[in-house]
Amino acid sequence: MTFQNTLEFAQQLDAQDELKQYRNEFIFPQHNGKDVIYFTGNSLGLQPKRARDYVNEVMEDWANLAVEGHFYANKPWWDYQERFSEPLSKIIGAKPSEVTVMNTLTVNLHLLMVSFYRPTSNRFKIICEEKAFPSDQYMFQSQVKHHGYNPEDAIIEIKRRDGEHNIRLEDILSKIEEVGDELALVLFGGVNYYTGQVFDMKTITDAGHKVGANVGFDLAHAAGNIKLELHDWNVDFAAWCSYKYMNSGPGNASGCFVHEKHHHSNLPRFAGWWGHNKERRFKMEPQFDPVHGADGWQVSNLPILSLAPYLASAEMFAEVGMDKLIKKRDLITAYLEFILHEIDKEIEGSEFEVITPKEAKDRACQLSVYLHGQGRDLFDYLMKNGVITDWREPNVIRLAPVPFYTSFEDMYNFGQILKNGILK
Ligand SMILES: *Cc1c(COP(=O)(O)O)cnc(C)c1O
Repeated sequence: MTFQNTLEFAQQLDAQDELKQYRNEFIFPQHNGKDVIYFTGNSLGLQPKRARDYVNEVMEDWANLAVEGHFYANKPWWDYQERFSEPLSKIIGAKPSEVTVMNTLTVNLHLLMVSFYRPTSNRFKIICEEKAFPSDQYMFQSQVKHHGYNPEDAIIEIKRRDGEHNIRLEDILSKIEEVGDELALVLFGGVNYYTGQVFDMKTITDAGHKVGANVGFDLAHAAGNIKLELHDWNVDFAAWCSYKYMNSGPGNASGCFVHEKHHHSNLPRFAGWWGHNKERRFKMEPQFDPVHGADGWQVSNLPILSLAPYLASAEMFAEVGMDKLIKKRDLITAYLEFILHEIDKEIEGSEFEVITPKEAKDRACQLSVYLHGQGRDLFDYLMKNGVITDWREPNVIRLAPVPFYTSFEDMYNFGQILKNGILK
């Protein structure tokens, strides 16, 4: 498609957008009486209007039923998480029994590492990406130390080559092979939070398994953003937060995936009563008998009030399906990139460098833009003019045109505000 940097063209794309009515399903912060242009759905997704009803339902059930709500609420609380299995399994490409929701992301990755990072004196190394999200780095270091190893020996970061912004798959694979039988775990992001690079999870998983390591993924920026086939890719485990692309609300619950092949194994885990055999949970037996499925990793009884808005959102994803979201994602991201290049051409002395990979298969919703010749002033100008984006050192703004609720007209308007901000 040949794009044009005009309002008419953008509106025409909106008119053809089969997801356009979903914009009305979300609540936009207002700026001078108009919806903001929201580019930070990769950090905190907008509130779906349906979320409030789901939360109110729990408040009502609590008021009217109190403790009896565990069994007699409209959506009973004692197995509330099971309502997520169907919709989430579609979003991440899993069987329903392989999915559960609980806790928050870093907590869940720690819990899953208890099962899947079992270092021995010969095999204790972890492979991860260079400059992984800080929480992941702290997690790796503390896990390695907890097992009595030295992070400097045990943690191997795959680095970007000099002058390159993204990690090459071949470098990941050759390092996995090189570390070989010393490798206990590969734990990578599915999508890098800074550059938006999408990693080839299937190939990485195969390579890790070939040398006898477990392979897991942090899907914070992948869930609800890219096509995932975790079951077929044979991934051992994964976890994601739900407040980014999944629009579940600030700091909200995490989802976990544990591959079916591990459901009947006796993997060690940190147990709690909510992971115990469902039929016998309230018999208060002393011996832990885990549920055979991802639910067997549950620990505590569930925070129903926070799961309620997540459920509203997960059902919306299942209703639309990832294929439609991905189709629009690719078009709107390409349009945003086009707009950036057009503005770049119109203005002398500025240069935007998109550091997100160029190839469609290596990227998803986000464009990370290096603002050569521009600085933080431009970012501040955007924010003051109703464009919500985020800034990362040294000089990068991240733009995520989330397909569920952003419009092509937003992209056009953003280009005009950007131009004014540079020329001012
Ligand atoms: C957002 C994000 C997190 C956040 O972790 P929480 O435990 O939810 O605070 C972790 N890892 C990655 C890669 C992220 O992008």
